[in-house]
Amino acid sequence: MVPPTHADATPGPGAPLPTPLSLLVEHDGPTGARLVTLRAVAAGARVAPLSEGGGLVEVPHATRHSIQVDERRHVEHLGALTFLNHSCAPNCFVDTEVAASPALVALRAVAAGEELTLFYPATEWEMAEPFACRCGAAECLGTITGARHVAPDRLRRYTLSPHVRGLAATTAIAR
Ligand SMILES: [Zn+2]
Repeated sequence: MVPPTHADATPGPGAPLPTPLSLLVEHDGPTGARLVTLRAVAAGARVAPLSEGGGLVEVPHATRHSIQVDERRHVEHLGALTFLNHSCAPNCFVDTEVAASPALVALRAVAAGEELTLFYPATEWEMAEPFACRCGAAECLGTITGARHVAPDRLRRYTLSPHVRGLAATTAIAR
């Protein structure tokens, strides 16, 4: 169901995570960890600040675990939200309208026990480490390499961060 992108972030047994009460990090299955909500979430609801349970650090370049918050800045999240996996049919997005305090927001109603997922190209213009997606969605893009490489008509189907919308528009004009 999920790509192994964050699999190597899995801490060893016995390493407690500063997980917010409504979220659970499950370490099982062949693809490593996943983030599950323990309570139902309404469409459009703010699930948690991206810094939840560990804070954010700014990094100079995109990394395997970073999230792009504007055209130039990337942050790594150090808490439970580092275990958000990619899906081509995501149920959440990262609201970067306020780049200093990005938040995880539900795109649709999410049931208790469901995994929370992001469409990585919604924030990532160019992925540090492209990967083969195995999300299983009918509309799966296959290889996830960043918004820059997604056809504009596909990209428009997703809720995108302002910087990705801006970069896509600039690129379209340049073509
Ligand atoms: Zn996919």
